Order: sequence, then C-alpha cells, then structure tokens
Amino acid sequence: MKPPRSLLVTAGLLVVSLLAGCQAGDQARWYKGNLHTHTLWSDGNHFPEMVVDWYASRDYQFLALTDHNIVADHEKWVGNDQVISRGGRTALADYRSRFGADWVQTRDVEGKLQVRLKTLEEFRPLFEKPGGFLLIPAEEITSGFDKKPIHINASNVAEVIAAQQGTSVEDVIRKTLLAVQHHAEEHHRPVLAHLNHPNFGWGVTAEELAHVVEERFFEVYNGHPSVHHLGDETRPGVEKLWDIANTIRLRDLHGPVLFGLGTDDSHNYHNATGSTPGRGWVMVKARELTAAALIEAIECGDFYASSGVVLDDVRRGRSELAIDIHAAQGATYVTEFIGTRVGSEHIGEVFARVEGLHPSYRLRGDELFVRATVTSSLAPENPVFEGQFRQAWVQPVVPGQRPSASGS
Ligand SMILES: [Zn+2]
Ligand SMILES: [Zn+2]
Repeated sequence: MKPPRSLLVTAGLLVVSLLAGCQAGDQARWYKGNLHTHTLWSDGNHFPEMVVDWYASRDYQFLALTDHNIVADHEKWVGNDQVISRGGRTALADYRSRFGADWVQTRDVEGKLQVRLKTLEEFRPLFEKPGGFLLIPAEEITSGFDKKPIHINASNVAEVIAAQQGTSVEDVIRKTLLAVQHHAEEHHRPVLAHLNHPNFGWGVTAEELAHVVEERFFEVYNGHPSVHHLGDETRPGVEKLWDIANTIRLRDLHGPVLFGLGTDDSHNYHNATGSTPGRGWVMVKARELTAAALIEAIECGDFYASSGVVLDDVRRGRSELAIDIHAAQGATYVTEFIGTRVGSEHIGEVFARVEGLHPSYRLRGDELFVRATVTSSLAPENPVFEGQFRQAWVQPVVPGQRPSASGS
C-alpha cells in the first residue's frame, strides 16, 4: 500500500531530525527518571515539593511533574479540607516538618485554611544539582473523544499547551502532537510528546496508535492500577498492543517504529493504595543530564522502560540485539526476543527465549522488528497486579534501517 503524501513528508522530516544525533558517545551514562507524576496542582494528593522529594531522595536523576492541563507557573491556592479529602490528613503537617514553617504559605479565607502551591521556579533550586538531579517542566495534555480518554504527556514545555478537540481519537492525538510541535518551534526547545496508558478507559487502540505516525512514543508500562496492562478477554495487553501497532506501522504504512516508556502516573503519596510512586521508570543513556540530551537520547531509542529490572547495557545493532543484565541478589532472568516477521500472520512472535545475564539475538533479516522483554524471577517491591514480576522493555530494532532511525 502506498502511503499518503502527508505521511511521507512526516516520515522524511523525522529521518532528517534523527540523523542529526544517535551517537551516544563515550561519556554517555544511564540516568533514571519518571516522566509521569501528579501533585496537588491537579489530582495528586501531595504538595509538589513533597512529591519531588520522594524521587530526589531516592535513586532518580530526573523527574517531570505532569499535572492535567496545568503547569506550575502561576498563583494557585488549595483548601486544606480538599487535601484531607484526598487522603492527605497529615500532608500539611508533613510538608511543614520537611520544609519548615517559614517555607509554607497559608491564609484564612472565610474560616477555611488554604495553602499556596509553590511554582516550579520557586522550588527547583531546592532540588536541582548539575549532573545530579533535574526537574523537567511538563504537562499531561488531557483530552478525549466520545468518552475515550486521550492523554499525552509533553515534557520540557515553556508554558501550558491547551488540550485539543477533534473528530476522532486519531484526530485528537494528531492535533495534540501538532500543538506540541508548534510549541517546540515557537519556544526553540525540544519537547517530548508521549501517549499515555492506551488501555486506560480503553481509550486508544493499537490500530489508532499505529495510524498516527507522528507519534513515536507511548507508555508500554504505567504503574497506575487502572490502565489494564494485561488487557482483558477481548482486548490486547499493552505489550501486545505495541507489537500490533508496530506491525501495522512498518508493514502497511512504512512509518517510524514506536518506542515504549515506563512511568509511575503516581497520584497517591500517603498510603499503599491507588497509584503510588516508584513502580515504573525509564533509564536513558544520555551524554549529560539536561532535558535536551535526555530527549535526544530517547528519540534515538537509547533508553529502556523498567518495573524493576536494571540493565548494564543494551546494544541495538543492525544485525544483533544484545543485553547485559545487572544481577539482583537471588534473581534469575528470562529474556524474550519478540517481533513480527515479514509476511507472517503471527504478530508479536517470541523468536527466542534466553536465560542468563547476557542474552542476545542475531537477526535473520526477515523480521519487521525485534524487541526484548527481560523478566526477573522476583516480584516488584510494590506490585500493581497479582503475579507481577520485575521487567524491562528494550526498544525495537528494525533491520536494514539505522538502529534508531524511522522508516521512510
Ligand atoms: Zn492520564
Ligand atoms: Zn497521569
């Protein structure tokens, strides 16, 4: 099938933009980050500094606060009764005790206690350290079509990007991506757009995700308990959805391959229920800890998604996909190399299952793509569903193409 002209133009632009980089270089190292996090600026239940502190005091190097259709850049007050009703009974006391009574700003409005939410620019200096910890200004652009949620995170924004409306799921996704692209051009900065939790509310199908070829990133793993990670009786789980989308992309549309991120989508910071922090993240192999370098590496596919497995290295070559797994105490590992062959009806076929710490797969040449999922014998520290194991998801390789470049 001949792709439409607009699609060719898009793919061509992507190739041009991608050819600029994709050489990680000797000084590149792995950085851990979460690109999907909520605070009291929208429907999260803790003050933004407390949320950042959760990540900054652990082993994360970067974080994006992604509240719904809002950026923390203006005056906003929240009623303490509202904080309490979301489960934050001790939130204000904890906030004062961690950052000091002088830092916390409150007021009384008709007998009700309100707390001012600090802006990103106000609290950045408390946490950011060159090469140590980075906050990326971001937003969850939250829209929908016909009651289907369509949420797209934009990371490294200069200000809020308005939610878009459209005539179909694909149209809303495309218009949102266009708005992000315009924002990036207008503000002369790279902005990463990734589609969130496609199975949340069964919002976005594999076919829809495949056909919006402008979108190159989505969440293959999201730690929120309502995202139907495993699918249901009639609908595919998110990993299978990834394979279906990439098969359509590469076989029918000659579009760019879709990469998969892992995120928390954390909202609850007060007890063990709901969407708690620390469940999903990305490890990005970048030349430095800046938003531009991280986005550049992600666009090159130099990252993996994780729910608990750590990799020492990933080599995504033209003819081989090879992984070095970082052994956790007491764990054994199975790596599945998964893809679809040209002309095969079997979508998301397991080409090989390899045990041990150094799995690799040599491409035959008839694969449309091959990716890898590494599964540990250990459960995550904070599992989302019963029977869950720690995993890592390695980005697909497309034979005959530059390892990171799109099709055209
Ligand atoms: Zn969402
Ligand atoms: Zn979210």
